[in-house]
Amino acid sequence: MSKANILGFNIDTLNFESAVEYAKTTSGQVITINPEMMSNPDMTDIVNSAELVIPDGAGVELALKIFGHNTHRIAGIEFAYRMIEECAKSSQSIAFIGAKPSVAEQAVKNLKNKIKNLNAVYIHDGYFDDADEIINELKCANPRLILCALGSPKQEYFIQKAKKLLPDGLFIGVGGSFDVWSGNIERAPEIFQKLRLEWLYRTIKEPCRLKRIFPALPMFVLNVLKERYIPKGV
Ligand code: UDP
Repeated sequence: MSKANILGFNIDTLNFESAVEYAKTTSGQVITINPEMMSNPDMTDIVNSAELVIPDGAGVELALKIFGHNTHRIAGIEFAYRMIEECAKSSQSIAFIGAKPSVAEQAVKNLKNKIKNLNAVYIHDGYFDDADEIINELKCANPRLILCALGSPKQEYFIQKAKKLLPDGLFIGVGGSFDVWSGNIERAPEIFQKLRLEWLYRTIKEPCRLKRIFPALPMFVLNVLKERYIPKGV
């Protein structure tokens, strides 16, 4: 599989359909990588040991362009939704872990109205203290797809631990997706998505996100430009 290495992070440079096809036959960890994650050096090992790293967000798409890859972003929420559809089609079971109490239940209820044969075998909120207890319960439920909406980096750490104990499971870190599927939060209108300005819409709606973007996002672009155009050691 073709990969790009940017700021030390390996990113799979495939399109949406190829990512789905690959994920259907893979187990392990799927990371939907964004500039925030790539600004955290502690994430390098986790990302580079993931089974699939897909470029989520306009910032990663831009970074890939700067390095000469014409790869389009894959929105994590769309990828996860498609994987739910694929599992439902092939009668494979799914676990939903994350978000505030009752949000995951509501999300599953809404998803079941849209996706026939969705088999949710485990649902839990994301505010637990004992990850081992959740992992043990997951082992009993034995789902094929495990969606973890704990926010980053919590979900990535949880998945890294859990995947070792559920070798046949496919884990995806899905951030705030349950909030959207439950109807609690609206996704940015299509025009913002098309203009690659989903981050701007979310920041306007939730101004507290501003500190997550600034100065991280401009610094990320500067670091990518530096890595691409300024020889090492200068
Ligand atoms: N969350 C959780 N457990 C925690 C912290 C956060 O389940 O300990 C959930 C939170 O309720 C929200 C999601 O994780 O549903 C994070 O959403 P956010 O939009 O911040 O994620 P992003 O996609 O930006 O990483």
